[in-house]
Amino acid sequence: PIRKTPRIIFLFSDTGGGHRSASEAIIEALNLEFPGQVRADMIDLFRAYAPKPLDLAPDIYPPLSRVPDVWGLGYRVSDGKQRTRMLNDALWPYVRLSISRLVRENPADLLVSVHPLFNGPLGRRLANSKTPFYTVVTDMVSTHAAWFDRHAEKIVVATEAARQRGLKLGIEPNKLAVVGLPVADRFCRPVGERAALRAGLGWPQDGPAVLLVGGGEGMGPLRAVAEAINAAHLPATLVIIAGRNRKLKEQLERTEWNMPVRVYGFVREMPDFMRAADILVTKAGPGTICEAFIAELPIILYSRMPGQEDGNVSFVVDEGAGVWAPEPDSVVNALRRWLEHPQERLDAAATCRRLARPQAARQIARLLAQRVGLTSGDEHAHS
Ligand code: UDP
Repeated sequence: PIRKTPRIIFLFSDTGGGHRSASEAIIEALNLEFPGQVRADMIDLFRAYAPKPLDLAPDIYPPLSRVPDVWGLGYRVSDGKQRTRMLNDALWPYVRLSISRLVRENPADLLVSVHPLFNGPLGRRLANSKTPFYTVVTDMVSTHAAWFDRHAEKIVVATEAARQRGLKLGIEPNKLAVVGLPVADRFCRPVGERAALRAGLGWPQDGPAVLLVGGGEGMGPLRAVAEAINAAHLPATLVIIAGRNRKLKEQLERTEWNMPVRVYGFVREMPDFMRAADILVTKAGPGTICEAFIAELPIILYSRMPGQEDGNVSFVVDEGAGVWAPEPDSVVNALRRWLEHPQERLDAAATCRRLARPQAARQIARLLAQRVGLTSGDEHAHS
């Protein structure tokens, strides 16, 4: 009999935190490892299925995330086994029909949630159904209780700390897999030659290059950090990525700089930027941090989202891959230290290499493929 192509559906939402990029990275890896053998689709659960007003979540996230204290409070008061259960119970009457419609309209061999808020309702709806459901946790270290639902068949996490959190919340050990954060394939290819990369990007060849990134939306006090670096007359090139933040980009372009500076909006070539740079200054986003590990790029972290990104900071600092510099002045001091003592930043770069998990997306892809009946006996044939 002809077997039909198995279908895997990824449930994500554009509420920051790299849920979209994680799904895309896994789908890309599925296509690389199992070309033509699996159908993969993404559904923005909030936009497509959430009842009003929850469908507005993707619009509410950017302004909300600019008020970190409110965000941090919400995170803390909801983070716990009982609290998450209470929230899920309260939400259930509102989301029950939507979740049922989602499951009915999208027959799948495997549902993969890459968002913390969907796991409780999904688990409840799928508890007695034949459709298996996996969760891929897109936070790195601090992982909210809502990520872990006991109905998930497998929960993939990025770090041992996240696995411990799952165990503490009562998830069975065999359901938890420490694999790493899925990162797009173009970040995972071998490092090119720095001089050639720089020439291609039009950056100066001499002296170190500092890459300043404020996350995809250009959030956080990026401008204050840029101005502090500029005022310090550091002997380096400063490359600033404003991301999707147009206004910030315009402001930066109008600024008079006393060092070589390049200003960009949202760039596609982030892998090249990271490989061409010597130091990364950024907020504590999980995607950017894991990409920097792969690029062997030492990290100065200047801000974080309270709650979900706290652990990212301690992880980077405790492992020795970078430093925490929450004020523009402390960023300048950290930079000065690394520019004057290059060996220290080379040590941090070596730590990045040790922490890098460039295979994570492919490993996750194989886990999912295995569950829908594909075998990867000829793994090496594809890579
Ligand atoms: N990014 C990019 N181009 C840009 C700015 C950011 O490709 O101009 C990517 C970056 O490489 C990372 C993601 O956007 O993959 C940001 O994810 P992260 O988890 O670091 O932070 P978020 O903005 O999602 O909170």
